Amino acid sequence: MSSGTVFTIAVNPKIPGRLARLEELANNLWYSWDRSTRSLFSRLDPRLWGAVEHNPKAFLKRVDESLLLKAAEDQVFLAHYNSILSAYDSYHSEPIRNGSTSGLHPADQVAYFCFEFGFHESFPIYSGGLGILAGDHCKAASDLRLPMVGVGLLYRQGYFFQTIDNHGNQQVAYTDSDFEDLPVAPVLRANGAEVRVEVELPQRKVVVKVWQAKIGHVTLYLLDTDLPENSVDDRDITHQLYGGDRANRIEQEIILGIGGARALREMEIKPTIWHINEGHAAFMMLERMRDLVQQGLDLASALEAVAASTVFTTHTAVPAGHDHFSNDMMSTYFEGFYRELNITREMFMEWGRVPGNHDFNMTGLAIRGSRFHNGVSKIHGDVSARICKDLWPQIEPEENPIAYITNGVHVPTFLAQEWTDLFDRYLGHEWRSNICDEKYWSRIEAIPDHLFWSVRQTLKSQMFYGIRARLGTQNSRNHGSEAHLDRLLRFADPINPNILTLGFARRFVTYKRATLLFEDLDWLRRILLQHDRPVMLIFAGKAHPADVPGQDLIRRVSQIARLPEFEGQLLLVEDYDLRLARRLVSGVDVWLNSPIYPLEASGTSGMKAGINGTLNLSVLDGWWGEGYNGKNGWAIKPGPENMSPSLRDKEESKDFYETLQDHVVPLYYSRDKLGYSPGWVKMAKNSMMSLLPRYNATRMVTEYTKNFYVPASRQGALYSDDNFSGAKKIAAWKDFVRRAWGGVAIRRLDTPRKRINFGDALHFDVAMRLNGLQPEDVIVELLVCRQLEKSTLCEYKHFRFEFTGMEESGEHLFALNLTPDLCGKLDYYIRAYPYQPLLTHPFEMGMMIWL
Ligand SMILES: *Cc1c(COP(=O)(O)O)cnc(C)c1O
Repeated sequence: MSSGTVFTIAVNPKIPGRLARLEELANNLWYSWDRSTRSLFSRLDPRLWGAVEHNPKAFLKRVDESLLLKAAEDQVFLAHYNSILSAYDSYHSEPIRNGSTSGLHPADQVAYFCFEFGFHESFPIYSGGLGILAGDHCKAASDLRLPMVGVGLLYRQGYFFQTIDNHGNQQVAYTDSDFEDLPVAPVLRANGAEVRVEVELPQRKVVVKVWQAKIGHVTLYLLDTDLPENSVDDRDITHQLYGGDRANRIEQEIILGIGGARALREMEIKPTIWHINEGHAAFMMLERMRDLVQQGLDLASALEAVAASTVFTTHTAVPAGHDHFSNDMMSTYFEGFYRELNITREMFMEWGRVPGNHDFNMTGLAIRGSRFHNGVSKIHGDVSARICKDLWPQIEPEENPIAYITNGVHVPTFLAQEWTDLFDRYLGHEWRSNICDEKYWSRIEAIPDHLFWSVRQTLKSQMFYGIRARLGTQNSRNHGSEAHLDRLLRFADPINPNILTLGFARRFVTYKRATLLFEDLDWLRRILLQHDRPVMLIFAGKAHPADVPGQDLIRRVSQIARLPEFEGQLLLVEDYDLRLARRLVSGVDVWLNSPIYPLEASGTSGMKAGINGTLNLSVLDGWWGEGYNGKNGWAIKPGPENMSPSLRDKEESKDFYETLQDHVVPLYYSRDKLGYSPGWVKMAKNSMMSLLPRYNATRMVTEYTKNFYVPASRQGALYSDDNFSGAKKIAAWKDFVRRAWGGVAIRRLDTPRKRINFGDALHFDVAMRLNGLQPEDVIVELLVCRQLEKSTLCEYKHFRFEFTGMEESGEHLFALNLTPDLCGKLDYYIRAYPYQPLLTHPFEMGMMIWL
């Protein structure tokens, strides 16, 4: 129709009483990892299920009444429905483990802040790895019954839809989510009114509405400014994830950090542990400090109290990737704040200062406002310690407080259904409660090889079905002929999924080097096109709309894929999202990753692949640096960091080609009489056995709990109890130490000996000028290590000096008696640093002097 006004009305089906709880199932993201729940919806109307992008809530609002009525009488459907409810209820009836089992106190609660959360494709408030990791953290916290709430933003536009045209240009389409279709609901007060908080922005206040989503046991609170009370511009603050300008970004971060802390307070949720996942949420600390200062605490003590209970996880491996804002912008937005706290602009800016950059750095703020910090793999922990080393100027990066907790993925979400079924049959249902037990998983060995192989082939076949559908849509939209489509799909044969298939899917950003395998096209041709041993390469991924080099990579992949000789063997599939990710990681045979070392902080897609028996072939960077054990995939050793980028690309691509031609292809195609490759199965089993128990989110959240949440709860209580006496004490002590430290000096009094016999005692004497500090304010120690162990990163042994008295000159004397228990050439050092038992990390002051 083109004349007249369109009036619209939504006619929602009435859910029959017997199926009433479908609504509950659609409103809990439990469905994002429970495939059986998803298949219940899809079973009602598969066509509609596809049309609503696998979104249960949208589905229930549109499904035909007649289908619901029929299902309510269908015994088979009801049996499926009831079995799901029984699993759902037993999952949710188990109480939260606040108490001795988790090591937390009954009143403890974690608040987990992140800029994006990815649970399922039906809930598009994520962009990539960071969001999916945050989603997995919530899911595992729910599985572990950890007392935790999440805090994020509710975007109308999260993940964009990607299409790729015939020239390889990425086209971006954003669609607004209808919040009625998302598994969220407004948080209501006891009187039925919606919970709202206000946040000050320059010359105005913005009203923020609080929504909630259920992730099993975990509640995620999502903030939204799209309200009639706000100006048109302010309504847009939370409109789009990573889409706006710098002003939009700082406003989003203010809403998340400051609005998030206020929202929790408004709902009377009192977290004792605050975790910010990446620096975007670091303004949260400012709000907590402001609150404490308003209650009468001095600023320095407020900072200590806030930091002691705060955990900060960094995910970035390049300094430029850390979020920062100009000082002018910071003044515009925080002028009122530093006035309120009665501090100068300079003092305020100091919190975000990092050497070599004038801007206010969110990582700087996050580190100063937290006492527990980590990177997301061993390599990345070291890299982050180096990037942030100047925040602890006198501490060596290896010893500074940046630790690491390696990421993990949520197994029920990413492990394919076929594996779940096979495990139930061969390992028994209890594999679910043994997720982290490495010994337990050796039982995979007992699965018959041919069955194992056939599961892998089935998964590949399903992936081919999915890809064929996507490529079909892609082809017809781009006006390709049927003949062209046939040529494209001739190798992706679901009936005979025998071709060795390599997958590369992730964000298109330059450091991930999607086109590394195109360094030498002739060589690539020789590997892919052997007619009895063909190889297929599948690419997928999005580039940020503002990332021009990222989009160039897509064009390059598309260009190579269209070369006649590669047609059908090199596929580029559009619109990478969680659904395609689940398909690809389990369906391809080999998962490729070729980042520039050490820029891949973790790289979780390889974990998703590895737990599904897909073999990783990756540069030893991020998680693979510790995941690779020589038997569970293949590793490319990165060239030295100082090598020129082009030479490094050349060298590393050569390693990739050689590994493929000498190892991967021959192993895959060396078939026994039954038609499968025993060597391949062995390696794939090794991949599952070694990676599943280690790179899962349960292990990750358990480590966060043990290493950070439990200690943060203890420190937080220690600092805040008794009217913040601990925080006041440590703040005053630090202030005193900072003033004195410049005048502290150490000298040795004994004469160093060059040679002794085993069993001889050594005596060390040092004198220290303490400049007003007391002897108990410092630790003087000797570090020793055997020279020949130094190359293999020697573990230094530490010995403490004792205070023995004072010199007339005012110097303090310290002494140590030591009988070395090692023979050989020993290296030793003597050093001193300020110490107080209330400190969270012994080197958090960043001060140390060496002899
Ligand atoms: C796992 C995942 C990622 C992150 O993968 P990386 O290996 O870290 O690049 C990104 N996008 C989607 C859809 C994923 O599922």
